[in-house]
Amino acid sequence: MTTLINPATGAEIAEIPDTAPADVSKVVARSRAAFEQWRETTPAERARVLLKVADLVERDATELTRLEVEETGKPLPVMRDGELPFSVDNLRFCAGGARSLDGTGAGMLSAGYTSMLVRRPIGVVGSIAPWNFPLVMAVWKLGPAVAAGNGVVIKPAPATPRTTLALTRLFEEAGAPPGLVGAVTGGAEVGSALVRDDGVDMVSVTGSTRTGREVMRGAVDGLKRVHLELGGKAPAVVFADADLTEMAGGVAMGATYNTGQDCTAATRVYIERPAYRDAVDAIESALARIRPGDPWSEATDIGPLVSAAHRTRVAGFVARASSDGARIAVGGKPLDGPGFFFPPTLVLDADQRSEIVQDEIFGPVIVAIPFDAEDDGIGFANDSRYGLASSIWTRDVARALRVSHRLDAGVTWINDHLPIASEAPHGGVKNSGFGKDMSQESIAEYSVTHHVMIKHAAPAARDSFRPA
Ligand code: NAD
Repeated sequence: MTTLINPATGAEIAEIPDTAPADVSKVVARSRAAFEQWRETTPAERARVLLKVADLVERDATELTRLEVEETGKPLPVMRDGELPFSVDNLRFCAGGARSLDGTGAGMLSAGYTSMLVRRPIGVVGSIAPWNFPLVMAVWKLGPAVAAGNGVVIKPAPATPRTTLALTRLFEEAGAPPGLVGAVTGGAEVGSALVRDDGVDMVSVTGSTRTGREVMRGAVDGLKRVHLELGGKAPAVVFADADLTEMAGGVAMGATYNTGQDCTAATRVYIERPAYRDAVDAIESALARIRPGDPWSEATDIGPLVSAAHRTRVAGFVARASSDGARIAVGGKPLDGPGFFFPPTLVLDADQRSEIVQDEIFGPVIVAIPFDAEDDGIGFANDSRYGLASSIWTRDVARALRVSHRLDAGVTWINDHLPIASEAPHGGVKNSGFGKDMSQESIAEYSVTHHVMIKHAAPAARDSFRPA
């Protein structure tokens, strides 16, 4: 049994039974049975179900928003006006994507043969999700996999399972075969059982790099396909010609959205030295305008961190940086009162190789560091084991492009940080993992090309035959 805690108050809100690891295979078996039916559906039928799920999410928007605000502490407007409609848009994108999956084609590739290239689903996907964007992450896992014709068993994070459980029920209500989209609950033990289950053909995980490694190990024996969306430590590279006010607003928002519990958060801000002082002043002012508070208030910008333990972890990073000689220019200490609040924080004078610069903190903490030449800025930005997101701040178009080509990242924003779109792939390089969420690429990830070759002429006509 997992007790859910409201992170804004510390109060208990619900008890969720954990799936016994031995029962995971029953949920997988149900999904597999339903998959045999689902794999035969046409793209139009899959699209119809996904569009219906999107409609049902809109129908239940108020309740889904309530559940998620209660267990994550994210501000009501962020969920109601942002993440929930974005989830709906993602589902509708997947419905369209189901009908335009590349790789269906025919041609005479060898003399005397007609080849057909057909995209087919992989089977049952075991999906494992984190707690920072529960509904969005569930949609990113379920939407493309179902669009491609698979079954999915998803395990939400133990602290935030309720919107995912509700979403799996909506798939059934929308007409997906019963059990095609199943869920299991619990922590690492249940996740590990799912990854290793013989009925699972592919695993998809969004979580920390450490979890990604463990999941990959679990997938080795079955040689299962692996899709990994892991940690991040995004740099923002700021040149002296940038609009510093706009930069400060964008970086402050990019670092504190979802209280910094975002794998693409702007965490390392590298500033060209002539602008360093002014840029730091501007970031301090922008952070001062961000209002932590009651998630239910329309005026709140950021809610609490997800748990007491996570807040202790975030505070520990800042305290160790301070005792190692860094200067805490803004914030840095947990806020008083009930709930696990931590203020927007700016750390200066930290060493590039120190843990506050190198490790993923997952809190509203920015480290600002000056650089001299363009190459130094790029070098600092790439001096990280992660490679998920990045941003460049400059008015010089040529420089923006030049630098963007050299950053180790799955996404680079120019003069902004964070926006995403259903059509654009999301995923990283290096220790941030591999595989793409969203976009047509995500649907392709959950499918495989099948080559069917038909002999249509007598052997004499087959002169160009070459073994592969
Ligand atoms: P986590 O790694 O602790 O847990 C993620 C999920 O994995 C949870 O459901 C957890 O129960 C499960 N899990 C943990 N150990 C497991 C194991 N051995 N086998 C199977 N399942 C296991 O991550 P979290 O704290 O929930 O989320 C934060 C992390 O997620 C951060 O590192 C963040 O960067 C990352 N994240 C990445 C993206 C992305 O798109 N790259 C998006 C959101 C979050």
